[in-house]
Amino acid sequence: MLAEGHDAGHGADRDPTPLDRDPTPLDTGVLDELESVLHDVERALARLDDGSYGTCEACGAGLDPAELEQQPSARYCRAHLPLRTS
Ligand SMILES: [Zn+2]
Repeated sequence: MLAEGHDAGHGADRDPTPLDRDPTPLDTGVLDELESVLHDVERALARLDDGSYGTCEACGAGLDPAELEQQPSARYCRAHLPLRTS
């Protein structure tokens, strides 16, 4: 009888210090990224002005405030986030 018991309690997959990203100071890709972030922020400011800030541009649903706090320039809800791939 091969009965492997449940082995619960071993799923603690914590990764407190993700070191995936190397600092690359002179990478023009970083500038491009910054420029696109700046563009997003400018858009967010414009949407603050017209009162549509905090809603998904695709479906109009309100965005999660916690998510907005993490990424103030967020323009899409979770369901439509893939639209934002760059
Ligand atoms: Zn949406």
